[in-house]
Amino acid sequence: MKVPFLDLKAQYASIKDEIADALQQVLDNAAFAGGPFVENFEKDFASFCQCEFAIGVGSGTAALWMVLLSMEMDPGDEVITAPNTFIATAEAISFCGAKPVFVDVDEQTYNINPDLIEDAITPKTKAVIPVHLFGQMADMDPIMEIARAHKLFVIEDACQAHGAEYKGRRAGSIGDAGCFSFYPGKNLGAYGEAGAIVTNNAELADKLRMFRDHGQEKKYYHSMIGWNARMDGFQSAVLSVKLKYLAEWNEARRKNAQLYNSLLANLDSVITPEEADYAKHVYHIYAIRTRTRNAIIKALAEKDIFCGIHYPIPVHLQDAYEFLDNKKGSFPVAERCAEEFVSLPMYAELSENQIKSVCHEIKSFLEVRV
Ligand SMILES: *Cc1c(COP(=O)(O)O)cnc(C)c1O
Repeated sequence: MKVPFLDLKAQYASIKDEIADALQQVLDNAAFAGGPFVENFEKDFASFCQCEFAIGVGSGTAALWMVLLSMEMDPGDEVITAPNTFIATAEAISFCGAKPVFVDVDEQTYNINPDLIEDAITPKTKAVIPVHLFGQMADMDPIMEIARAHKLFVIEDACQAHGAEYKGRRAGSIGDAGCFSFYPGKNLGAYGEAGAIVTNNAELADKLRMFRDHGQEKKYYHSMIGWNARMDGFQSAVLSVKLKYLAEWNEARRKNAQLYNSLLANLDSVITPEEADYAKHVYHIYAIRTRTRNAIIKALAEKDIFCGIHYPIPVHLQDAYEFLDNKKGSFPVAERCAEEFVSLPMYAELSENQIKSVCHEIKSFLEVRV
């Protein structure tokens, strides 16, 4: 049975007419860059995230960058984050002149290990960016406690965690700011590039609104040097339609994950994802761990089942970050995970039969090998 890693066409088919209407309205109003559709989406997304403010921007990378810029890093300042993330987290730190400092992750949740943060703090540390990897939030209480004690900003990289919860609180609502990506494959995906920042800090929200629009308070009156990081009108209209279904789609992902978990339980050579007691996981990625990762991916591909790897090389071992001089072995949990992770097909429209077929092929591969 054919099982793609992701099926954006299936989702589009379910909302086709609503999307057409929404795009037509943007055309009729010629509201292409920023404007009323963006403002509408911001209002709804802020409330979805249990936050007071949302600021729409051009991408998740821009969201992280804009927040860090607004926190005014000095050259040589340090920002703590996890090494097993998409490179954008580290790039945003680098692009505002600061240095990414990595801290290893917890073996159960794959998120930054709070017990290791304090040792990484120096007089130059300005902020911590927990990354809510795969749709499960990092352990925020100890992170906030450490950050407050050392007067550090906390920026949640919630780019994979739209609607995820920590003790009932939504991703993005706990730190000083939360950053979201609406890249098409995310749990809430645009039909192009988009992102947003959420916060409860009115001053920060005002600053970010100016930053994303060339530092202008009103047109052609610039009180600071900003950038063009505005959200596109079409994207906001698409996102407003899709936001209404996000909770339902996240529930479908959770149900799919439960079926995977039950079908893959009790296999010695497979570790399935665990939902922490504090968490509501939204399974942006459903990643299992196995020592025979590459062989499983190949065997499944031969049966038309397509998997991913998130991520094959942790950020500290990427060529781009060689200059930081982090050696292999510095972050053993993140490195072991990078060698063992396989992301199985995961999206709301995945059928029970497709999931059964994926698990059947994994089991027959493992039996052939033993
Ligand atoms: C997707 C992603 C980003 C970047 O978002 P873009 O919209 O692609 O720029 C940043 N951090 C993480 C963890 C992501 O998954």
